[in-house]
Amino acid sequence: MAQQEWSDPGLSDRLDAVQAGVADACRAAGRPREDVTLIVVTKFHPPELVRALAGLGVRDVGENRHQEAQAKAEALSDLDLHWHFIGQLQTKKARQAARYARSIHSIDRPRLVDALTDLERPIDVFLQVNMTDDPGRGGVAPAELEALAEHALENPSLTLRGIMAVAPLDEAPAQAFARLSDYSARVRAVAPDATAISAGMTHDYVEAIAAGATHLRIGSAITGNRPDPR
Ligand SMILES: *Cc1c(COP(=O)(O)O)cnc(C)c1O
Repeated sequence: MAQQEWSDPGLSDRLDAVQAGVADACRAAGRPREDVTLIVVTKFHPPELVRALAGLGVRDVGENRHQEAQAKAEALSDLDLHWHFIGQLQTKKARQAARYARSIHSIDRPRLVDALTDLERPIDVFLQVNMTDDPGRGGVAPAELEALAEHALENPSLTLRGIMAVAPLDEAPAQAFARLSDYSARVRAVAPDATAISAGMTHDYVEAIAAGATHLRIGSAITGNRPDPR
């Protein structure tokens, strides 16, 4: 990643605006603000932007590509950041991701759980649920959630926090997120402590908060547009 001076006077304003939006949405939903963790998704942006965010008080950052995340975490190892890995993860890269990521939100198959045994440092995990009929979108089918949760519970290197989901492109977010409480209940039936719900991005975080999300993954509303095409 090329070194460059980082200067974006709008960053602080955009972060403030999202923080205010999150506070409003919590109030509207009758939920305490402390129930919701804001993860700022910094994918495709240089480490300097993450450093600037840390200077503004951000501690939770999200990345969706292993190599990029690894390089950024290394470049910023002097900061006490909580790196959340939120993208599709290759089984053979899982152990490497667990070295810098304290949380992995995209656990979607038993083999990924098996790749994360005997870690030097335990990590938090979320089970990603596929809210569509397209297996290519990532995530476990809802019917397989309990089995995957039971499998994760058998791995002492993993602390099962809950579920993660991305709203489908072709459905209203509020309608899709209404299914989250059912998915969450299925997981809690076998893992009562796994109460977290990672859902909500730039365009649907208000609906996600209304539906009970505890971890928001918000990128472009805070960082501005991503430099590379997605
Ligand atoms: C990029 C990404 C986000 C953030 O998306 P924005 O629309 O920029 O807020 C959240 N979750 C996942 C899994 C992502 O890949």
